[in-house]
Amino acid sequence: MSHRVTLIPGDGVGPEISLAARRVIEAAGVAIEWEEAEAGAEVFKRGDTSGVPKATADSIARTGVALKGPLETPVGFGEKSANVTLRKLFETYANIRPARQIPGVPTRYDGEGIDFIVVRENIEDLYAGVEYLDTRDVAVALKIITRRGSEKIIRYAFELARQEGRRKVTCATKANILKLTEGMFKRVFEEMAPEYPEIEPQHLIIDNVAHQMVKDPAQFDVIVTTNLAGDIISDLASGLVGGLGFAASGNYGDEAAIFEAVHGSAPKYAGKNVINPTALILSSVMMLRHLGEHAAAQRIQDAVFVTLEEGQAVTLDVARQAGDVEHATSTSGFADAIIENLGRAPQTRYATKSAAATSEPPAPRPRWTVGADRAAIETRLIGADVYTEAYDDPAVVGRTLDEVAGPDFRLLLMSARGTMVYPTPSAGVDTVGWWRCRFVAAEEGGTVDDAALLRLLERIGARVPWMHVQKLRLYGDEEGFTRAQGQ
Ligand code: NAP
Repeated sequence: MSHRVTLIPGDGVGPEISLAARRVIEAAGVAIEWEEAEAGAEVFKRGDTSGVPKATADSIARTGVALKGPLETPVGFGEKSANVTLRKLFETYANIRPARQIPGVPTRYDGEGIDFIVVRENIEDLYAGVEYLDTRDVAVALKIITRRGSEKIIRYAFELARQEGRRKVTCATKANILKLTEGMFKRVFEEMAPEYPEIEPQHLIIDNVAHQMVKDPAQFDVIVTTNLAGDIISDLASGLVGGLGFAASGNYGDEAAIFEAVHGSAPKYAGKNVINPTALILSSVMMLRHLGEHAAAQRIQDAVFVTLEEGQAVTLDVARQAGDVEHATSTSGFADAIIENLGRAPQTRYATKSAAATSEPPAPRPRWTVGADRAAIETRLIGADVYTEAYDDPAVVGRTLDEVAGPDFRLLLMSARGTMVYPTPSAGVDTVGWWRCRFVAAEEGGTVDDAALLRLLERIGARVPWMHVQKLRLYGDEEGFTRAQGQ
């Protein structure tokens, strides 16, 4: 059976590694009709600000599967990441990054049994990319975590653990500080865990996960986490098992799956035919399992492992570690060696935490429903945070806002970057001219409405510039906002 797959060669070293992956897949005898498509730097240069032309999106919509080289993103300015655009266009919410010891790849943890999978939420969080300059010098970003998004990824992690016969799922969050966003993720995890009684649920604070991962990485099995934390710890995980040259990943959604190396376009190596193509080749192995081509996937993985284990052909990154760059093999030469080794099996078989019938089952196909409708929960508006710009002493700003608050509201407090500065001043708080001003209903425990809020904004705007407004709501008895430090 022939498969149709969209192939995006990508930027920098992308064309070299995708050619290597394509050659290996074809040599393993898998029939694929490739639809070559572009995205990234060249597309941006032509003035397409998404970096993903319609023809590319249409191709993925048709094939449902893409193999993608890395795409360049300007750092700190300019266009949005085309990688992120692709993930969002196809709602590939589950980013799966396995970290396993690979035969022949020396690490500091040799023989310790590293075999875990990072399941990273791929759509939400700070990667929504919603940012503002609230004043000339104050930048803010929205961290967006939804119950639906959390349910989907946490379900995915438990299903993956069940499918692979793994015993533990660790939820890694920063819920100690971010009680509503990261806290929601943790609560959904705790609600869902009892549905998987055979799997041990564990929650760890993300900074401790980083610490534990370096100290004793073999303790982890499946880790599920939010987008930014997942991005960082999955790179850390790659470093434990040989580095970015070996780190594979799959992005899975209900309608499409996109497979790519974890690493970027490594521009300094572009066109030099020296980069290690293993990461993209192992990503292709994940893709072949997704396509049901288990035998070919295993053959390719075995051939990669034999090649690495025997060490006859090593790319520059590995040769450098051995202090022997003279004898480094080119990217294409390394692909030739893998092709040569198809049909052979590696001597080293590391123990796996997976107890599944096949040692490497494909990641689960998502498409599950999410939890109960919560529309019945009563919502009440009890006030608003109004963000203002002012450079006077907070006591002066506070008194001005006290004057304009009535008759419907009273100013409860002002805070600077989360710490209360009015009415109770905090010693040593560096003010930056950006104030969260919390107004609540004038009557103790009362509610307000939009009309009153609009009148309040008019009164504030006549005295102090305001940038944005956040309503303070109660959902049942639950406060839909956090308190200021010191409140
Ligand atoms: P990078 O491209 O991943 O490269 C960083 C370093 O990692 C390289 O200089 C090299 O280290 C090592 N490396 C990367 N790939 C390797 C491979 N296949 N084999 C051996 N070593 C490898 O990260 P970056 O320089 O930060 O980012 C470059 C561009 O890629 C940026 O525009 C970024 O936005 C983009 N990016 C894209 C993706 C994606 O498409 N998914 C992911 C990450 C970054 P040495 O210098 O030590 O040899």
